[in-house]
Amino acid sequence: YTCPDGRPVLRGVPVAIKDVLTTEHLPTTCASRILAGWVPPYTATCVRLLLGAGNLLLGKNNMDEFAMGSSGENSAFGPTLNPVAPDRVPGGSSSGSAAAVAAGMAYLALGSDTGGSVRQPAALCGVVGFKPSYGMVSRYGLIAYASSLDQVGVIARSVRDVALAMNTISRPDPMDSTCQADGTTDFVAAVGDPPRKGRLGLIRELSSPDLIEEPVLRALGQAIELLRGLGYEIEEVSFPELRELALPSYYIISCAEASSNLARYDGIRYGPSVKARDLHELYLENRSRGFGEEVKRRILLGTWVLSAGYFEAYYDRARKVRALIAHRFRELFERYAFLLTPTAPELAFRLGEKKEDPIRMYASDICTVGANLAGLPALALPCGRERAEDGAELPASLQIIGPRFADHRVLALGEMFEQELSAPQPAV
Ligand code: GLN
Repeated sequence: YTCPDGRPVLRGVPVAIKDVLTTEHLPTTCASRILAGWVPPYTATCVRLLLGAGNLLLGKNNMDEFAMGSSGENSAFGPTLNPVAPDRVPGGSSSGSAAAVAAGMAYLALGSDTGGSVRQPAALCGVVGFKPSYGMVSRYGLIAYASSLDQVGVIARSVRDVALAMNTISRPDPMDSTCQADGTTDFVAAVGDPPRKGRLGLIRELSSPDLIEEPVLRALGQAIELLRGLGYEIEEVSFPELRELALPSYYIISCAEASSNLARYDGIRYGPSVKARDLHELYLENRSRGFGEEVKRRILLGTWVLSAGYFEAYYDRARKVRALIAHRFRELFERYAFLLTPTAPELAFRLGEKKEDPIRMYASDICTVGANLAGLPALALPCGRERAEDGAELPASLQIIGPRFADHRVLALGEMFEQELSAPQPAV
């Protein structure tokens, strides 16, 4: 469907929405007990735009509580299963969104991506996941996890569908002062006119065998060959900070912001509340019962890194590292049109495999957090299936990272790759 300004938009298709985006008249839970029964008085801008264009809301998707997680196991509703292999996790935190699209339940889904939550589940479920540049889509109605990193993203079967969705939801919004979309970019036209030549940088430290599982590296190697075949020049580039410093910086900043953003959930304004003798007991009881383990862990970590005496040692240093990483990305984009990495260091792992080991779980985000720290657009693209150690055939994924606000160009390269790899296949 073409809207009056001449841009094609998505219309008339069934969509599903991660339960972190507010929907008027429908409960929004963030998969947390603390929001049980809460019905928001307003609808998120991106959801309003998508539904306003004539698409049908199938429902709200399960997720990791407050978008904290990489496996979908941190939900008050229980875990989401991976439709490709139900003994495996679908990734997280937009677990239900990726699973719904991969299973063919929804045509397209919206998620949120603070450190990889759209791309990593898309990778593990074998579908396309796009995190736009920070500021390309309004965050109004996106329940905040870490506001300086959060961005709404799209999960779909093909790059073209992502482009149609971007035409629909990337619009100016006075309700979000960080939204810089001007609503004039035609993402669909851009994917119809892909770049034919260019130099791409493969980030060496994120494609090394001591970090990335063997099957993922195999798929990556084939993807690189395919891009070479298309006429792109591909060089290895070194970006050690991304491997050594991005995760600690991300987890300090995101926990710090989360500890502040989640302070509002006291059981008074939202969700169920207990009877208590005084205010302290009320906060203590409501927050102890309402939040899950991982959310509590992050609130504690975040409060700690912001506290007097630790602020300079942790939060301030993490911010400096963030600036350094953004700077290094800008330098690399002077020489390379796009940067490439795997989307996730492993294929879909088993339910329960990392749940009790937060550090291993956090390591799943090693390839994705850099784009959030620097506000860059990044696309997760299925690049074939590979055999896991037990013989299961599981999807692998290539990540394309582009310069800030070059979202349409990232999608154009993705479209070209996808076309070459073969027409998009349903995941199950
Ligand atoms: N897995 C990361 C985390 O737990 C990313 C989450 C996200 O992007 N919302 O913080």
